[in-house]
Amino acid sequence: DVCVLGSFMKDLVASAERRPLPGETLHGTGFAEFLGGKGVNQAVAAARMGARTAIVGTIGEDRYGEEFLELLSANGVDTSWVVRHPSLGTGVGLPLVLPDGGNSIIIVSRANAAITTAEVEAATEALTASKVLSVQLELPVEASHSALRLASAAGVTTILTPAPVGPVDASLAAYVDILVPNEVEAAALTGLDCEDESQVPAIARKLAEDWDLRGCVVTLGSRGAYVLDRDGGYEERIAAHQVATIDTVGAGDAFCGSLAASLAHDAPLIEAARLANAAGALSTTTNGAAASAPDRAAAQTLLSR
Ligand code: ADP
Repeated sequence: DVCVLGSFMKDLVASAERRPLPGETLHGTGFAEFLGGKGVNQAVAAARMGARTAIVGTIGEDRYGEEFLELLSANGVDTSWVVRHPSLGTGVGLPLVLPDGGNSIIIVSRANAAITTAEVEAATEALTASKVLSVQLELPVEASHSALRLASAAGVTTILTPAPVGPVDASLAAYVDILVPNEVEAAALTGLDCEDESQVPAIARKLAEDWDLRGCVVTLGSRGAYVLDRDGGYEERIAAHQVATIDTVGAGDAFCGSLAASLAHDAPLIEAARLANAAGALSTTTNGAAASAPDRAAAQTLLSR
């Protein structure tokens, strides 16, 4: 149903009262480790939302790589297209979290950065046999480009999460059917201000026209999402669900993975976005990245509440 091309990032999170000064060694107040990376988060989310899901990406021949394979297999994600790099380790993220919730993050891409177009092409079967391909911008752009091109040529619906945001080449944009930016990304891609609620429809329309999209879904964090469906010829503002939020990491990925799963089951974009809005909300009620994605039953229960 769903194929995800994307990153694998092992997060080693330290909490501290403040940032260390240059040259200083500071005692932290807490530590936690999570399995994340946008690719993994979206694949786990899609699988928990009931889609047969495969992931394409690169990890190291190390302990973190093993942890990812275990997590993905436990969630029913097909890992047979994951390449293990012999010399580079699995990608890592080193966030420092401060008492006010602010953070500073170092990420080291390692194996993620080494994925080649040849490795992507070797996964053509997975990319073209799926109904939906979901891609982000954490891997080298050539890898995303070839995956989108192959899937698009095979008639697969392609979704792009433009994160981390940066200039996007028109040749890559041409292969994208549905764009799912958050507020920061939507603002960066259009130069318009998403916090100004009245601007959101104009932003979605500008992206849809500039990129010649079939649909655009702007995620608005605790404010919900905005859906523009050009195929269906409608636009709709979806309000956020009121939930007990404790950690918003991975909300966008839970949203996107859920959206992909519903589209793979032929749901109209608006229905897919409504369920994704519930999945995104639920993911904020637990800690962690990949592990915080809810299952389909929980998302449907929240939606019908
Ligand atoms: P990202 O994680 O990429 O920054 P957002 O913050 O926009 O993405 O969150 C994605 C989606 O998750 C939102 O569109 C919404 O559906 C849901 N969500 C995020 N934060 C909350 C929240 N505090 N309350 C309810 N839903 C939320």
